[in-house]
Amino acid sequence: MEGAIQVRYRCSGCGNLTRFDVTTTSTVRSFNHYSVGGELVVEDAEVLSERVDEVVCRWCGTGTAVEAVTPPS
Ligand SMILES: [Zn+2]
Repeated sequence: MEGAIQVRYRCSGCGNLTRFDVTTTSTVRSFNHYSVGGELVVEDAEVLSERVDEVVCRWCGTGTAVEAVTPPS
C-alpha cells in the first residue's frame, strides 16, 4: 500500500529475517458505497494511522530478540 512504512525485522536470537507474526492496530477511513439494494462496496480505504503492537519471531516463538531494521534511504 502506498505510504506504508517500510520496516524490516530481524531476530537477533536466531537470525531470522523473513518470518514474523506482526500485530498491528490501524485506523482506516473508508468510503462505503451502498447500492439501492443495500449491497456494500468499499471503494476507497485510507489508512489514517497504523501502530505495530507486537512482532514475534516465527522461529523462536517470542518477540524478545526481534529488532526493527530501517533500510538506508
Ligand atoms: Zn528468532
